[in-house]
Parts: sequence; structure tokens; C-alpha cells
Amino acid sequence: MAKQPMLKFVQIERDMPQKRDASVRKEDFNEIYAEYAAAKAEEQASRCSQCGVPYCQSHCPLHNNIPDWLRLTASGRLEEAYETSQATNTFPEICGRICPQDRLCEGNCVIEQSGHGTVTIGSVEKYITDTAWENGWVKPAAPLAERSESVGIIGAGPGGLAAADMLRKAGVQVTVYDRYDRAGGLLMYGIPSFKLEKDVVERRNKLLADGGVTFKLNCNVGEDISFEEIRSKHNAVIIATGVYKSRDLAMPGSGSEGIVKAIDFLCASNKKSFGDEVEAFDNGDLNAAGKKVVVIGGGDTAMDCVRTSIRQGATSVKCLYRRDRANMPGSQRETQNAEEEGVVFEWLSAPKGFTDESGKVSGVMVQKMRLGQPDASGRQAPEVIEGADYVEEADLVIKALGFEPEELPTLWNQPELPVTRWGTVKAAFKTGATELDGVYAVGDIVRGASLVVWAIKDGRDCAEAILDNFNSKAAVAAE
Ligand code: FAD
Ligand code: SF4
Ligand code: SF4
Repeated sequence: MAKQPMLKFVQIERDMPQKRDASVRKEDFNEIYAEYAAAKAEEQASRCSQCGVPYCQSHCPLHNNIPDWLRLTASGRLEEAYETSQATNTFPEICGRICPQDRLCEGNCVIEQSGHGTVTIGSVEKYITDTAWENGWVKPAAPLAERSESVGIIGAGPGGLAAADMLRKAGVQVTVYDRYDRAGGLLMYGIPSFKLEKDVVERRNKLLADGGVTFKLNCNVGEDISFEEIRSKHNAVIIATGVYKSRDLAMPGSGSEGIVKAIDFLCASNKKSFGDEVEAFDNGDLNAAGKKVVVIGGGDTAMDCVRTSIRQGATSVKCLYRRDRANMPGSQRETQNAEEEGVVFEWLSAPKGFTDESGKVSGVMVQKMRLGQPDASGRQAPEVIEGADYVEEADLVIKALGFEPEELPTLWNQPELPVTRWGTVKAAFKTGATELDGVYAVGDIVRGASLVVWAIKDGRDCAEAILDNFNSKAAVAAE
């Protein structure tokens, strides 16, 4: 009888890839986890119990065929594991690195629930596709036949690129427009490289270009080219512009110098990592070196800002969040990483204003909070504790309070583009179709600030809907 390669979770303990020691990793911007060795990946994959109803899969937004690629990995059949993994995920090695697995696949693994420690799904997914890249199994699109239809995609983030990949593989002519100088969206200019090294994104961009996707970069739609012009050039248009309007604080002193937006701070840091000249970094405005930094917010963006500040050489880094640790929106794994690297969290603390010296921020006026009754969303609302205010010294304050959509109907002079009351584009759930003929929308611009894996899912679903539509039109024309 063949040796049973699976169900080893009782004999073998969960073992994540080695995390570099905090004292070492905070000195650079490289990823913090080492790669699994082949034997370790096989061993960890073999812990899966091959559930008949795999909750990991149902809680993965892409419904990745996790049990199958774990079994193939455990059996050393890595090329087949890669084929299975990439069939449902355009960027498996990226999701393996940055999905909040503790809230998605791994958090719902039955082995985790039974107290044995989850199967390390994300790390195995990353291992499979990194190995595929090393072995040359990842190939550019090579459509069987070229199609005459073209699609214009506005936004080269994961949503737009996932759609571009599927459409191009089907032979569609694809042009991606982006206002940045590099493709990748927040993968490139938001998420720091200690979570996602940039060559991992760049090789994907190159693969798309090698497969025939045309990139028009440094092209701000609404300024350098109108939305109407793009619409007139293509059979369909996908809006994948993400959400970039930073939520702000209107309180005394909030206009002082030295209070900056998280996205500007992270974008400058990422640009520097490419060796670009970034004036606002070089003149110190967006550089934490030698500064007392206070980051306001408790989400993943705040975690990225505190950890970037540490790496830039800040003298101290504090994070203010108005609820407690259990109620923060950011990943617990990332919070732990930040703590290990020296970040101090001030839970139940909210800003009420800023002190300054000659117009330059010198501190944050902090009010202490307690959690009161649950609000309409079911979360306990923070309440002020009177008389407990204090000033937290700071010479750089980073606001990481979340993002909202830009006003596309106004910016693009498209009053008929349907948007919700939050400003996100109104689009059909499964297809991304808007009420404008041939116009689709995917990713954060539809969902509000969300996750890479959801943007990929939207991009893939939308590409499928567009192909269905092209095929039906072609069938009618052929009748
Ligand atoms: P984006 O990635 O935002 O891409 C949109 C693109 O559209 C950009 O390249 C932009 O330049 C372009 N664009 C916008 N307007 C125009 C215009 N007018 N003309 C031309 N181009 C335009 N998610 C995770 O899953 N894991 C994480 O660890 C994680 N960390 C994050 C850290 C930070 C700091 C931030 C801000 C977000 C993070 N996210 C994370 C969320 C994730 O990055 C987003 O959900 C995802 O990138 C959304 O993809 P998208 O394609 O919709 O938009
Ligand atoms: Fe888990 Fe994300 Fe991979 Fe799905 S895509 S299996 S949620 S890491
Ligand atoms: Fe394997 Fe866990 Fe998924 Fe079950 S839930 S199939 S044990 S990874």
C-alpha cells in the first residue's frame, strides 16, 4: 500500500518559516520570513487532514484548492501543485506573503480549531510559486489566437492586473493606464518591502508586459487623458483605481508642519528603495530618522508606518489607538512583529489636538479612553476618561486613519458614473459591471479599502464577465 503522506498534524507541530531576529531585521527593509526548505514545506503540507468540507478553502476569497495543492506538495509533486494553485490565483506568491491568513484560510483551518496549530497555508503557497519562478514554470501569456477586442484598464494595482492577465491569456488586446511611474498599485508603493519585496512585484509586471499587455504609465486619467477618450478607444473599460483620499483629523494644531499622511510617508519610503530621488524624503519631511514618531491608527497601514519608522532610524515610535488590542482592525501577527521591533502601543488613546513650536509639531495632546457600550456595529464605542489627558512628545506625526475614494464623477467629468453614498463606484457583485455600457469596476474603488486577495478576485470575475460578453456578441454577429 502507498505510504500515507498526509494527516501528520498529530506527530508534526506547526512550524512557520524562520523569522529573522527583530534586532537584525529592523536594520533593513528585507522580508522578515526566510524561505521554507523543500523538506520543511513537504513536512508542513503533510499536516493537512484533507477535510471533506475544507473550511480553509471556503474562507479563502479565491476558493483556492488548498487541500489539493497541499497534498501535491507533501508528495513532492511541486509543478502540479503550482498548476493547481495558479488556476485560481493570479498572484499566489503575493497572497502567500501578505494575506492576513489568520483571518482567512488559516484562521479557519480545522486543525487550528482543534488546538494543534493551523496548517501554514500561506507559507506553502508562497513556497510553491517561488519554486515555480526559480524553475521557469511561470510563463508569459501565450494566447492560442489574438482577438480583435480591446480593453482599457485604469489602475495597475492587483485588481486591474488580475483582470489584465486573464484577458490577455484569452487573446484580448489590453492596455493598462496608471498615474504612477511603476505598475503594481499599493503592492509597489503602499505595502513596505519587509512584507513584500519589490522584485516579486516587478517580475509579475514584466511577465504581463512580455505576454503582450501594454502599460501606459505616468498617465493620470482625468488629466493626461480623459475617461471619454479611453472609453472611445476600447470595447470595454475597467476602473481599478483604488482608494487614495486619506481620512483627516480636524482639530487644534492639525495644520502644523510635521503631521503627514501615511500614504505619502510609505510611498516616499518605497520610492527611495528603488534609488529614486524623493525631495520630501531627502529634506526630512517624510523621513523618520532621528525623530520621535507618533502614528495614529490601529489598522494595517498604521502597522506598516510604525515598522517603516523603526527601520528609518526613528529615536522612538509610538502608536496611538483609541480602542484596545483585542478590538484593533490590524492583524495581530503584524502587531506582534511591530512590538518585537520596538514599537510601543498606547492603547485606548486618542488625539484631541497637537502642540507646536513655531508652527512645527512638538506633541500630540492625547485623551485616554475606555470602552463603553457596543455601538450599532456591535463594537464597544470608546469613551473619554475625563482628566486623564497628557501630551505625547512628537516631531513626526503620521496619520493612518484609513482611506476614502476620490470623487471620480467630478474628477473625470462623468456625472452619470454611478457611485454609492460613500463615493465608491456602484458595480454588480459578480461581474463588476456598472450601469454605463461597457464600463466595469473592481477592487478597492468598489469595496472601499480592502485586501489584495479581494481585488484579485474582483479582477478575475470581471475579466470572465467581459469575455462572456465579447463571446455572446461574437456569436450574435456570426449568426
Ligand atoms: P490599488 O492597489 O490601490 O491600485 C490602484 C491603482 O490605480 C494605483 O496604481 C493608482 O496609481 C492607479 N490610479 C488611481 N487613480 C488613477 C487615475 N486617475 N489615473 C490613472 N491611474 C490611477 N492588503 C492585503 O491583503 N495585505 C496587506 O498586507 C495590505 N497592506 C496594506 C498596506 C497599506 C499601507 C495599504 C494602504 C493597503 C494595504 N492593503 C493590504 C490593502 C491592499 O493594498 C488593497 O486592498 C489593494 O491594493 C487594492 O487593489 P486595487 O487594485 O483595487 O487598487
Ligand atoms: Fe489563504 Fe490568501 Fe492564499 Fe487564499 S489567497 S489561500 S486566503 S493566503
Ligand atoms: Fe487541510 Fe486545514 Fe484545509 Fe482541513 S481546513 S483541508 S486540515 S488546511
